[in-house]
Order: sequence, then C-alpha cells, then structure tokens
Amino acid sequence: MAIKVLSEQLASQIAAGEVVERPASAVKELVENAIDAGATTINVDIRNGGRTLIRISDNGRGIDSAEVETAFLRHATSKLKDSASLASISTLGFRGEALAAIASVSKVTVVTRTRADQSGTRIELDGGTLCSRDVVGAPAGTVIAVENLFFNTPARLKFLKSITSEKRAIDEFLTRVSLAYPSVRFRLTHNGRVTFQTNGTGDLRDALLSVYGAEIGRQFIPIGNSAETPTPEPAQATVQISGYVSPPSLHRANRSHISLYVNGRWIKDQRLTYAIVEAYHTFLPSGRYPLAAIFITLPYEDVDVNVHPMKTEVRFHKHGKIFSVVQRSVRETLLETAPVRSIDSPFEQITSTAPWNRPLTGKPKLTDWGAWGEQNELALQRPEPTPPVQTGAEIGVDNPQPEMKLGGERLPIMRVVGQVGRAYIITEGPEGMFLIDQHAAHERILFEQFMQEWSAKTLVSQQLVTGLPVQVTPAQSALLEENLTRLDDIGFAIEAFGPQTFMIRAVPALLVKADPAQALHAMVGDLEDEDKLMQTQVEAAMIKRACKTAAIKAGQVLTNSEMDALVRQLEDCETPHTCPHGRPTLIHLSVAQLANQFGRT
Ligand code: ADP
Ligand code: MG
Repeated sequence: MAIKVLSEQLASQIAAGEVVERPASAVKELVENAIDAGATTINVDIRNGGRTLIRISDNGRGIDSAEVETAFLRHATSKLKDSASLASISTLGFRGEALAAIASVSKVTVVTRTRADQSGTRIELDGGTLCSRDVVGAPAGTVIAVENLFFNTPARLKFLKSITSEKRAIDEFLTRVSLAYPSVRFRLTHNGRVTFQTNGTGDLRDALLSVYGAEIGRQFIPIGNSAETPTPEPAQATVQISGYVSPPSLHRANRSHISLYVNGRWIKDQRLTYAIVEAYHTFLPSGRYPLAAIFITLPYEDVDVNVHPMKTEVRFHKHGKIFSVVQRSVRETLLETAPVRSIDSPFEQITSTAPWNRPLTGKPKLTDWGAWGEQNELALQRPEPTPPVQTGAEIGVDNPQPEMKLGGERLPIMRVVGQVGRAYIITEGPEGMFLIDQHAAHERILFEQFMQEWSAKTLVSQQLVTGLPVQVTPAQSALLEENLTRLDDIGFAIEAFGPQTFMIRAVPALLVKADPAQALHAMVGDLEDEDKLMQTQVEAAMIKRACKTAAIKAGQVLTNSEMDALVRQLEDCETPHTCPHGRPTLIHLSVAQLANQFGRT
C-alpha cells in the first residue's frame, strides 16, 4: 500500500481515543469547557450511562456565532495564544482537541449564544461532518448534546463497560469536579431522574455535604493554613494547601475517596496520594484509607499540565517540596484535632504498631513484651488447627460458605479468668491458658451464626421501629441500587429514598445491636472495591463486613457473664481460631511452656 497522509477525519478518530475513552471522559471535557467559559450552572443529562446521550448545558459565555464551526476543528482553542503561554496554563482546557475528538466519534448538536449576540446558533455534526446550521432563539450559554458515542468506532464501543459502570464513572467525575468548584451549581440526571446536585453556595463544606450526605460530610476536618514553608525565599513560599480530610474515625476500604486538585484541576498522583495515606500512619487500621479533598495552589509555571491528552497527570517542578508540604499539613491537622487516640477505637487502631500485634510466626522474643529480659524465649503459639477435611460438596465454586470447613479443630472447654486491656479475655483450659481477642472472636461467632442461618434459609430480619435514612455518594448510590436484592437476601430491607438517600427498614436480627447505618456504609465501601469479586462471593463478603461492624470492639469492658457467653459461643464455632478475615482470635500458652519459662523443667 502506498504511503499517504490520513484524512483529517480518520486522524481525528485515531486521536479521539487518547482524549475520550469512555462516556465519562466526554463528560469531563464538556464540563471543563463549561467551567472555562465561566458557567455558574452546569446541568449534565445522560441516558444509558452516557452511551446514547450526554447533554451538557451551561450558562457560560457562549461561542461567537462566527466561531462555532471553528471550535470543532482539531487544535482549535481560544485558550492558548503562543508557545510562551503553554508554560503557565490557567484554564482546564488548552489543547483544542476535545470538541473535535468527541464530534468525530458521535453525533453532536450544539446550541450556543453569547451575551452580545441577539440570537443563538445551532449546528449539527455527524461523525465530525457538518450537517446543518440554523439561527435559533436560545438563552445565553451553551448546550452540547452528544448522541451515540463511538457509533463509528466499534472497537471502542466493544470496550465500554455496563451502563452502571459507565454511569458510576460519570458520578465519580462529577462529584470530584463539584468539590473543586463549590460555587458552580451542578446537576446530574440519568434517564430523566436527578441523581446528584450541588447548591453552588461557594462553600466547600456544602459541596462535601452534597457529595457525602450530611452525616459523613459534616465530619470532615478543614486543613489548617499552616502549610506555608517558613523560608525567606519568596518563590518557595508560594505553595498553598487547603481542603478537608476525614477524621481517623472515618475511613474506607480503598484510596478512591482521596481527591487531589492542582490549581482547580483534579489530578491523579500516586505519590501524593501515598503522602496523604502516610500522614494517617498509626491513625487508621491497616488496609483502611482516609477520605480527602485536597487543593494545592501554586504558580501556574511551577506545574506542567501538558503531560497527557487527558490532562489528569501533571508534573511538578518541585515535587519533593509539594509532597512534604501536603503530608505535613494533613499530619498537623490530624494531630491538632485528634491528639489522643481513643480507647474506643476499633481493635486495629490501638494495636497496629504495638509490639504484641506482630505476626506470631517464628518465636517472638520476650523483649517484644517489654522488660521481661532478653534471654528468655517464649514461644507464643496458636493451637495448630488440624487441616480441614474437605468434602466434595464444599469444594464447588458455588459454595457460598468458603469459610465453613468441617473438621477444623474445636476449642476445649475453657474457664474465664478475666479481661486485660479491655480487649482480651484470659481463660484457662485443660492445656494451659488462652488470650482471646474479644473483637475478633465475636466477629467469628456472628459470622458463623449468620452463615448458618443464611444457608439454612432461616435468617430472621427485624423491622426497625422507624426507618433509618442513610446518605451515600452518587457512585455508591448506583452500587447500592445494583445490590439491593442481595442485601435483601441477607436480611437488610433497604429502599431507595431520594437521589442519594436510602431508607433502612429492617436489619438481620443477629445484628440488631449494631449501628445499621455504619454497617451499610462499611458494606457499600467494600462493594466499591469488589469489581474483582466473584459474584457468588459478594454476599459472603457483605456478611463478613456486617459482622465486623456489629462485633464488640476493643475498649469495651465486659462482665464475667458476658465473657462467659462469648467464650461458650466461640467453643461452638466450626473454625474458632481465626476471625472471618483471617486474623487469630486467640493465643495459647501451654502448661509446658509456662513450666519451661519458670525453669521448672
Ligand atoms: P480547549 O478546551 O482545549 O480549548 P475544546 O475542543 O474543548 O478545546 O474547545 C474548543 C473551543 O471551543 C474552546 O477553546 C472554547 O473557546 C470553545 N468552547 C467549547 N465549549 C464551550 C462552552 N461550553 N462555552 C463556551 N465556549 C466553549
Ligand atoms: Mg476543552
């Protein structure tokens, strides 16, 4: 085949892939254009996850009638004058690619009017080709409707995920951008139903309330303004950090609720995200992550935003400094507002760095315990469970009870001696003493009872006296809706109750002492992470999570009869040695070991 230059249309289609890879990226580009146009109201209407329709309406400055077609040409932009201005970009867009890219892979209709123009302009493009141009009456601002995205690029179309996934990506983008622009009123509708909106008061706290609901939104703590480096060099003192972070009591199963913005642009930056997670070191249980919306303001010329067509990656000229300023301001905020770790915090919080929480592999030295003297070595042993015997019925993929194994070693009958550290129960058995982690043990007990009732279909759910409303983010709301029947199946009666609100009507009777809202938040938090989970495992994962939130915490004083009841129930468990997440529930110290330690043998 002879070498020839690609047609403009084909080149656009190829380039489009770098800018728009899914409906959410088209929404991002169009919303950013509206923000760059100074809009204070932005409405996003989508159908079928944005596959069939994305329509963005704004009240921004509009496009001059003579320039509407130009806006759709590749590399056409009003935001960049010369190559010098490329070094200090103050707008979200600047590459002049988005409209051309979107138009080349969809059918686009634009209606736009500037305040100076008497009438508006309407043009239609199909696969990037102009089909019509009309003069129309229109309010000042711009409406861009994108229909049938990727209709002419089947390869792209094939890679789109389910409607709910695409919708969720749009939700996530919109919630992120709404935090960066609290003075803009955003509204998102999906198939004609409002699923998210902000009030545009200009207060970031209000935006947080819109995204997370009142209950969680009000817990966020503002980052103090102590971020400036006390240095005489003026050029160095120009990084400013602001925003909100979650208190140590509020956390999620993944990093996706950490949002970073540089000069109003949402960015992805693993190292900065890591800096924030690190700032919570010792404040959070392991495997849990904070929520944060952090705004970094710095001179435009100190950051290169022209790294990737999607503009979500940036390069800082002084990365190390930004990293440390962000980390320090988050850490200082936490230390100021939460100086003392409460004994009421969940088990992991108290002991995650404590020496006695080190993994019990090998023989930990007694020095780990403090002043007992180095020469004495004591093997702290968990009783080794005999390998479980698997029956055929248990090995099947569809077995909903991966945790329940026959033949695991049962516990001996034990006598309760007392409680230490408001976290551990000491017991005596025929073979010596045991230290039982009250939280892990209770979690195991609840989980086994739950799984038994669930698989025997004898699960009882209990109506709440009054419904309990719970607010979630738009993305979580989509997830919850997808999983309502599952939740119903495990004993939660929950119904949609407004755009981001769900009403809990009933809970599994087993968990009636737990906080249902907390349990729901924990389960939906896990669901966000569960794309990889096999469908049959989702229920089990939800049950595990619910039991974890319902289990008694470390820090709770237990009476002797409560400890007794707990120990009896643990003795009844099929797999008593570990909690459903695999942590040990008890440590055994045998009579022989004790004798050895005291030099009796
Ligand atoms: P860029 O945003 O990088 O400049 P785009 O292809 O996204 O490139 O948009 C091209 C031009 O069209 C913009 O520079 C802007 O002048 C104009 N434009 C696009 N969307 C809007 C809008 N919603 N309101 C006003 N002008 C717009
Ligand atoms: Mg743009």
